[in-house]
Amino acid sequence: MQSQKAQKIDLNLDYPCPCHRRGRLTPIALTEAFGCNRCQRFFVVQDNGYVIEELPTNYSYKRTWRWTGHQWSIVSPSLGKGYLPLTMVALGVVIVLLVATQSPLNSSPAFWRSHFWH
Ligand SMILES: [Zn+2]
Repeated sequence: MQSQKAQKIDLNLDYPCPCHRRGRLTPIALTEAFGCNRCQRFFVVQDNGYVIEELPTNYSYKRTWRWTGHQWSIVSPSLGKGYLPLTMVALGVVIVLLVATQSPLNSSPAFWRSHFWH
């Protein structure tokens, strides 16, 4: 993945859709965005024209792709960019749950176990 050099995205060209093989991304006039003719998603060009970013819907993660000249290569979310706090929160929740399920102060640990692990 990393060995493939990213190519600059040309806003005057059509590209295949990263979600649907048969979809086409067509430039939207006067914007730095592409629209797919199949899945109706929109992708905004970011990072000085080297990546496209999916406009997130309510229930999806924001995804970005690089253009390698032949195909899209999904960009793994960097831990340093906003995902670390989320990871820490998730880790904290797990720790709290572990402590809660094993605490001797809890009157009914079996309840907590059945509640969280089933
Ligand atoms: Zn599509």
